[in-house]
Amino acid sequence: MGKVTGFMEYERLEEGYAPVESRLKNYKEFVIGLDTDGAKVQAARCMDCGTPFCNNGCPVNNVIPDFNDLVYRNDWKNAATVLHSTNNFPEFTGRICPAPCEAACTLNVNDDAVGIKSIEHAIIDRAWHEGWVTPQPAKQRTGNKVAVVGSGPAGLAAAQQLARAGHDVTVFEKNSRIGGLLRYGIPDFKMEKSHIDRRVEQMKAEGVVFRTGVLVGAMPKDSKVTNDAKETITADELKAQFDAVLLCGGSEQSRDLPVPGRDLEVCTSRWSSCRSKTRSTPATSSRASFAPKASM
Ligand SMILES: Cc1cc2nc3c(=O)[nH]c(=O)nc-3n(C[C@H](O)[C@H](O)[C@H](O)COP(=O)(O)OP(=O)(O)OC[C@H]3O[C@@H](n4cnc5c(N)ncnc54)[C@H](O)[C@@H]3O)c2cc1C
Ligand code: SF4
Repeated sequence: MGKVTGFMEYERLEEGYAPVESRLKNYKEFVIGLDTDGAKVQAARCMDCGTPFCNNGCPVNNVIPDFNDLVYRNDWKNAATVLHSTNNFPEFTGRICPAPCEAACTLNVNDDAVGIKSIEHAIIDRAWHEGWVTPQPAKQRTGNKVAVVGSGPAGLAAAQQLARAGHDVTVFEKNSRIGGLLRYGIPDFKMEKSHIDRRVEQMKAEGVVFRTGVLVGAMPKDSKVTNDAKETITADELKAQFDAVLLCGGSEQSRDLPVPGRDLEVCTSRWSSCRSKTRSTPATSSRASFAPKASM
């Protein structure tokens, strides 16, 4: 546990926003993450509960009290290792996860929850900045071939784990770019696409092969689902060519909501509006990287 009395001494700190004037001029991320001091104060609030509900509230079971303690003790490198032990892409979740861990935080019963997501965000941005995030190719190859269908966060995380276990992994994606809804559903102001591109490079260095523009199976003629495929491959062909096939196709078919006003011209689905905006975003957009400040 970080500071025994931390939860009584320190208030919850929120991440900042860039000024509106600058946000109006671009489409980039506008959340300003906690600096080293802020993250340390926030981590000091963690009570290291005997039963850490945050850990179960988190969909990937992040080991939250442990990385909070490490941040409080200024051991950021080990904090990044603990964070990566359950989460392949903390820079995605640290930006866009709705943070059910914080709803589950015991401190949330009668106080403000620990800002867990902001600590996660600070750890992984620092890890990338320090060069601690590097490819981890498998030491031994199994010779098994695995096809992963779909390159959304589920497909990418599975592909990375399988490659690190030594399998020969090929990711098939019908669209022209990797990332699924991370790329086509989530706007740059929430998460810039360079974060996906950086992970794809890491995964290529770990041996993952990406085949974009390849549809597995067939699409119904009247489908409104995005499909850039120039090539198709059948399920039988995949089964013949690979030892295992993992389906991570997501759920792109939006469901209409028949409520009063739905027929108004201005009322459109968030999915289709996000898709049209994100499709026009360049493949890689840059951003000033995290610069850690002096520690507490
Ligand atoms: C507009 C919008 C905003 C969102 N915002 C947030 C947010 O802020 N925070 C959050 O936590 N979640 C958010 N979500 C939800 C989140 O994006 C999804 O839960 C997540 O992307 C699901 O991941 P996935 O890998 O299962 O599927 P997807 O991301 O959908 O990826 C599936 C991939 O498989 C490919 N594919 C499918 N079928 C085939 C096939 N036959 N052949 C080849 N390729 C195929 C698709 O093209 C796609 O790239 C949002 C969703 C939408 C629609
Ligand atoms: S913000 Fe991070 S720790 Fe919290 S639920 Fe999401 S992934 Fe888990």
